[in-house]
Order: sequence, then C-alpha cells, then structure tokens
Amino acid sequence: MKFVKNRKIYLISGAGRSGSTLLTVILDNHQDSIAVGELINYISNGIFNDEYCSCKKNVSQCFFWQKVKAKWDERRILDLEEYNRVQRAVTKNKGTLSLIRNLINPSPKFKNYIEDTKSLYNAIFETSGKSIIIDSSKPAQRILVLRKCGISFSVLHLTRRFSLVLNSNKKSFKKDLKAGLEKDMNPQKTSYVAMTWILNNILVWLFSLGGERIRIRYENIIRNLTQEINKVISKDVNFQEKLKNRGPFSSNHIVAGNRIRMKDELYVANDVQDKKLLNLTAKDKIMSKILDLY
Ligand SMILES: [Zn+2]
Repeated sequence: MKFVKNRKIYLISGAGRSGSTLLTVILDNHQDSIAVGELINYISNGIFNDEYCSCKKNVSQCFFWQKVKAKWDERRILDLEEYNRVQRAVTKNKGTLSLIRNLINPSPKFKNYIEDTKSLYNAIFETSGKSIIIDSSKPAQRILVLRKCGISFSVLHLTRRFSLVLNSNKKSFKKDLKAGLEKDMNPQKTSYVAMTWILNNILVWLFSLGGERIRIRYENIIRNLTQEINKVISKDVNFQEKLKNRGPFSSNHIVAGNRIRMKDELYVANDVQDKKLLNLTAKDKIMSKILDLY
C-alpha cells in the first residue's frame, strides 16, 4: 500500500512525563492535523479495554474511531491479538534487537505488521480528511517502524529537564477512568527514572539519524509557546491566535495519554514550576543537577 503525497506524520518521541500530552493537544488545534494520542496503545487501551476517548465517549462509541476501525478491519492482514503481540514485542527496549533483526531480514509476520501499520495510518488519514497525523507513541523503537513503513515523517524529540521528570515520577495518582487515568501510578525509583530517561533520549537521537528530527523543549513550550511550536508546523491564522493567547486548546479524539487530554479547554500555564521540586530528596536533587545540564 502506498502513501498519498503531502501526507505526513509527526511522531512525538522521548522519555515519559515530558509533557507529550500537552504538545499533542496543542498540535491537535492546527487546521491540517489530527492528533490520535499514543497510537501504539490504541489496540490495548482503546479497543480491548474500551477506555475513554478525549471526546468523552468510550472508544467503541466514538464515531471517529468506529469509522477508523471499520476501514482498518477491511484491510488488516493480522488479527488484532496477533498485531498487538508483534507491536508490544518490537516497541520495548528489550525488543530492540529483535526489531533490528526484523528490519534487516523481516519475518512474514513482521512484514504483515508493517503493512497493517500503514493501513491503520491510511484509515486515519481518510477518516479525518487531514494531511497530518500527530502520533505520540513515545518509545524510540517506533521511529524504526515508521522508517520501515516508508511514511513521510518527522520526529518531534520532546525533552524536559530531568529534575521535573523525576519530580513528576515521584508523585502517585489513583486510577480514575473518567478523568482519563487508566491505572494507579506509584512513585518510581530514581535510578530507574534516570536510566530510562537517558536511554530513551539517546535512542531517539540515534534512530533519527539521517531523518528529520526537531528538538522541542518542554520548558520552551511554557516560556516561548509560539516560537517553539512554529518550529514544527506551518502557520494557520486561528492557530497562531491560540498560541498567542496560550489557549484555549481542545482535543478531538485522543485515545491514550495523560488526563489533561480530557479537559474541554486547555490553557498553557506560564510557570515551569522548577522551584517546586517538593517530591525530591537531597540525593535526587544532586543527580538532577547533573542531568539537567543536558
Ligand atoms: Zn472520540
């Protein structure tokens, strides 16, 4: 299956808790784009668990995803379980070697997975009528999958100061499906957060070599919204107005992602909150000082 010219995917990549949902919601407001959330979690969260879409309906009741799924079902080669199994296997850090092996010498199942991924994107392009898909599937391995699909895409490499990522990982949240929080989130160990933060950022850089990678800093979105977002997307008058006023941004049919996707109107706050690292110990703060130099 071929891709129509002028269609493009923006893939938001980077470590978790870097503000990817905020960036996704902002970009969803551009006239040419449709943001779908973390597309790698659409099958498990959206279809199997029937979680909430940002339009406030369950995914099975959302007219947009109903149409996408009907189109995809007609064209898909693998059944959903199989597709999801291959996807989970190749989008984990542990699965990177198996992914690279498949890129060089693809198994029949992997070839089908790639074909099915292309038809999923095409079903979204056709249903939305938009020319840009914002996919916030964060793992770096997704970059290699998109390369194999032969799709025109740019990587939006989203980074956020380590101290803020760590601070966010130290908070705990209770599951609240209606608010868009799909499971309990417990505080994470500092060593684990540091390791995944470093590894993810290195892999995003490495896998994007030779392709288009735009570095977006979370702190710049907050401090200099218009300038940072205009690095990504062409100018559209209404969108520029929203950027200038820092909102209101609304989301259409974002499936997986954090709870801010469920807000009716989102305004981008003016404060990076870097003075409020309340969840960090003295030791955490030392490690943050070093990694914040990046
Ligand atoms: Zn929806």
